Amino acid sequence: MFLKRIELQGFKSFADKTIVQFDHDITGIVGPNGCGKSNINDAIRWVLGEQSVKSLRSGTNMADIIFSGSEQRKRVNMAKVTLVFDNTRKVFDSPFDEIEITRQIHRANNEAGYFINKTPCRLKDIQELIMDTGLGRDSLSIISQGNISSFADAKPEERRGLFEEAAGVAKYKKRKKISLQKLEQTKENLERLQDILDELE
Ligand code: ATP
Repeated sequence: MFLKRIELQGFKSFADKTIVQFDHDITGIVGPNGCGKSNINDAIRWVLGEQSVKSLRSGTNMADIIFSGSEQRKRVNMAKVTLVFDNTRKVFDSPFDEIEITRQIHRANNEAGYFINKTPCRLKDIQELIMDTGLGRDSLSIISQGNISSFADAKPEERRGLFEEAAGVAKYKKRKKISLQKLEQTKENLERLQDILDELE
């Protein structure tokens, strides 16, 4: 599973429809300061369900991510971003070889619409689709500029946590912790049942 293409229209500095193709193992996006490199990163997180306007480095409303105009161009009233993933290895739980995830917002109602392969869906459906694919909220597939220095400054235990997250060990540790809590709860319930049985005998 890899990101093949991103299509942006009306998102932040991308007033016109812009397609960024990721054909090779490593793609570098270069350009002068302020040309919109980080906005591509924001667009990916936005489609995957980011709800914090602050973390998208925008204003106060989600509609502030819509292109607000420039000296040459009037503002637009809609933003739409589509991520196209290759799914030939079926990492997404879907029979399709290509998965398109789209998010759209209109200035008029400040509402976002989500789509999977052009079919309207809920944010929850997207969250379920990307769960366990390495694209989730706490995954390390997207690392912003600020995070790099925090990784460099991290204490050894914190850095180990990051490696565990990247290696996919962290999710099993979390599941183990939840299972142990359930076991403990079941043990307590059994003890309580035994007390009742003892009283009845
Ligand atoms: P740097 O190399 O300095 O990190 P960058 O290429 O990553 O820069 P971005 O932060 O992606 O640049 O883009 C910033 C540009 O996006 C600014 O020129 C800003 O005016 C523009 N921008 C952000 N939001 C909007 C918006 N809603 N409407 C129009 N332009 C916007």
